[in-house]
Amino acid sequence: MSATANSVWNNCLAFIQDNIQPQAFKTWFEPIKPIKLTDKALSIQVPSKFFYEWLEEHYVKLLKVAMTRELGPNAKLIYVIKMENKYGNKEPFTEQIPSSNRTAVGPQELDVPITSKNPELKNPFVIPGIRNIKIESQLNPNYNFDNFLEGDSNRLARSAGMAVANKPGGTSFNPLLVFGGVGLGKTHLAHAIGVEIKDKYPEKTVLYISAEKFTQQYIESVKKNTRNDFIHFYQLIDVLIIDDVQFLSGKSGTQDVFFHIFNHLHQNGKQVILTSDKAPVDMQDIEQRLLSRFKWGLSAELQSPDYETRVSILKNKLYRDGVEMPEDIIDHVAKNIKTNIRELEGAIISLIAQSSFNKREVTLELAQQVVEKFVKNTKREVSIDYIQKVVSDYFEMDVATLQSKTRKRHIVQARQLAMFFAKKFTKASLASIGSQIGKRDHATVLHACKTVDNLAETDKQFRKYIEDLSKKFS
Ligand code: ADP
Ligand code: MG
Repeated sequence: MSATANSVWNNCLAFIQDNIQPQAFKTWFEPIKPIKLTDKALSIQVPSKFFYEWLEEHYVKLLKVAMTRELGPNAKLIYVIKMENKYGNKEPFTEQIPSSNRTAVGPQELDVPITSKNPELKNPFVIPGIRNIKIESQLNPNYNFDNFLEGDSNRLARSAGMAVANKPGGTSFNPLLVFGGVGLGKTHLAHAIGVEIKDKYPEKTVLYISAEKFTQQYIESVKKNTRNDFIHFYQLIDVLIIDDVQFLSGKSGTQDVFFHIFNHLHQNGKQVILTSDKAPVDMQDIEQRLLSRFKWGLSAELQSPDYETRVSILKNKLYRDGVEMPEDIIDHVAKNIKTNIRELEGAIISLIAQSSFNKREVTLELAQQVVEKFVKNTKREVSIDYIQKVVSDYFEMDVATLQSKTRKRHIVQARQLAMFFAKKFTKASLASIGSQIGKRDHATVLHACKTVDNLAETDKQFRKYIEDLSKKFS
């Protein structure tokens, strides 16, 4: 029997499944559909361009091995990017698929809104006495996708957010967990997803709430003996967005109730979107069963924006405020405020304000003063940039050398030390550390940390390096 696209792809999948984490397999491989096989070329359909880029970036080797096993050394893989109706047209398409293949859609769309007319139901958002069944989404329309600028640092999270907004509950990104440090756009993105869903599916009940407020409401409901109403209320929601779930740490009662709500929503094909300042693996005092739920879907990190993204965020802000500002000033702000978009915006707002109050031209000098204030206030936390600078100085090399691709031993060691200290003294994830220290991946950082640990035990000179450098960071 000759091979078909299906049989070839199924064999590839079996091989891939044996070689990667179940979650990754579910997220990145299950949604793929084999389309056709011609000679040694297999065409597969992927849901979006972003999906294709992700596969190429992370799984190209694995795919190649799997394909070679099936089709020999001349095997070829062709991606076909699925046409999405709305936001899809903004993306450049490599190829369009024949319509016969477009009929397949994911899980059923739950378009029927649950309309509960149960007047007994207590809406925790409503002041007692006032009866109001309509659930206000609590969304801020100023946080939308249009003004959430895209860059390398947020591409995965932003695209996943878009995918969820296009098909709430109908993608494998359920729950979608967006995580990252302060001021990197978690709240903005969470609202943007909700706003977009409201726009596309006005009949859906969307609710944004911070984990803190959720906790307060829960405690209140226990006091008033309305815990069941509280749970029922949340079970009516089609798209539940909970911001800053790390707040649930150590609060076992709230975690328990959230677990039940989550299961109910998930089983009914409802979308859950969560944000957190940490990756699930780093969350403390969150019950294991809840953490494992978080991992069902997709965890996407918001990293610190690169220079280009910072410049475009600043320019966009100025443009929206109708303010013009010289390039060198924008450049100065973007070069000096790196790890927090809120501060980036804060600095530019402060500059605009100062210039208009004092009727002063915005000069580079003024910009320097303002930036200095912002930078000083955040100095207390050691930054990855600072670590790289200190380590480079210590070994008398410049940061570019430390980050370079060279395999020279002393440079490699300096780089590994920088990674080690970044892991130790910052809250950044391995991936984020890697991307900031010479664009390496998380595995490289992990390897660096292990190497440093090993050398610290076996190499006296190396131990001295660590001790000297540690002093500089504490
Ligand atoms: P977090 O919740 O992660 O602490 P926020 O969502 O509050 O961060 O974002 C901080 C500020 O930065 C907000 O004013 C937000 O609009 C802005 N911001 C964050 N990311 C972007 C982006 N990609 N494009 C434009 N503005 C952004
Ligand atoms: Mg926030």
